[in-house]
Amino acid sequence: MNSVDWHRAVIKVGSALISPEGDGCSGQFLLPMARYISECRQQGKEVILVSSGSVAAGRSLIAHGELPLLAEKQAMAAVGQTMMMANWQRFFDFPCAQILVTHGDLSDRERYINIQNTIRTLLDNGILPIVNENDSVTTKELKVGDNDNLGALVALVSSADLLMICSDVDGLFNKDPRSNPDAVLLPDVAKIDDSIYALAGGTTNKIATGGMRTKIEAAEKATVQGINTLIVNGTNSRVFDELLIGNNAGTLFKRQASPKKARKHWLQHGLKSKGSIKVDAGAQSALLKKGASLLSIGITDVSGDFNKGDALDIQNTQGELIAKGISQYHSMELSQIKGQQSKKIIEILGYCPSDVVLHRDDIVVLA
Ligand code: GLU
Repeated sequence: MNSVDWHRAVIKVGSALISPEGDGCSGQFLLPMARYISECRQQGKEVILVSSGSVAAGRSLIAHGELPLLAEKQAMAAVGQTMMMANWQRFFDFPCAQILVTHGDLSDRERYINIQNTIRTLLDNGILPIVNENDSVTTKELKVGDNDNLGALVALVSSADLLMICSDVDGLFNKDPRSNPDAVLLPDVAKIDDSIYALAGGTTNKIATGGMRTKIEAAEKATVQGINTLIVNGTNSRVFDELLIGNNAGTLFKRQASPKKARKHWLQHGLKSKGSIKVDAGAQSALLKKGASLLSIGITDVSGDFNKGDALDIQNTQGELIAKGISQYHSMELSQIKGQQSKKIIEILGYCPSDVVLHRDDIVVLA
């Protein structure tokens, strides 16, 4: 079986694994996954979890009829989320952090940058981020809806190079394995098209929101952005032993470009610049030769009216376009801190959301 190299993975764990009975929180399937995550971290890899299960975990604590009302489900999520977090924490001897997001948070540029910075900072401090949808506050219109697609969005926000979807199925089969005993597992998928979607049946799990279709959607979102996507069966502990020795025991959806290339393409063509900044010769050389982040001290000029999270053109002293990147600051803030040392930002603005103005991961060099 083919293996996939990765440095930062988003591992999505479905409700079927957190709450196999569909009610309450269980540790039954978490130990092998937790062991795998700990082992990967020991190898210097970074992991972010996207965990479902809050609604299922809190289900029995909220009185409800046959089909719970929205408010009842939201209350289940509120009480179940802490149970789900506590359930994970008992398997790790390093701290876990909770991040709850909505679709609105991920589509707002400023909040997107905040989520990105939070995840970066947690990883830098050796903490395991555990993300879920903020089910207690979202309505259908504002929801990502299923955690497979949420996993893909988190993989994008966190610049992961692998999305691993752990569920209770082995992967994608050439026919529906529930009605075809001769169905064969596909070890890899080179490209997702209609013929691949045609292989997805609906979900049969009464608790999980997603099925194979949402997994393929997630894989499509991730692979076009350069992120390999692997579907594995998290109920089978041998899967994780296989993964540790470099075998992909599941279905691998192959990325369509390298993450660097895909990100460069997205930064260059997917985002419209809302303003521009000029940098001095020192900053230009750090940017072009070392791939460094851009600091306030190197900025000589700011033009345009832009917000945190917007894309900017970066020009050299002669006004030539040398790079493009995503700003951590609003244009008004940047005008005040340009030419100043990072440690002065707090004095000037009264706060310091970031000690770099553009993070190196958010810059594409064009010159
Ligand atoms: N966010 C939901 C929960 O934690 C799960 C959504 C899904 O099953 O994909 O209960």
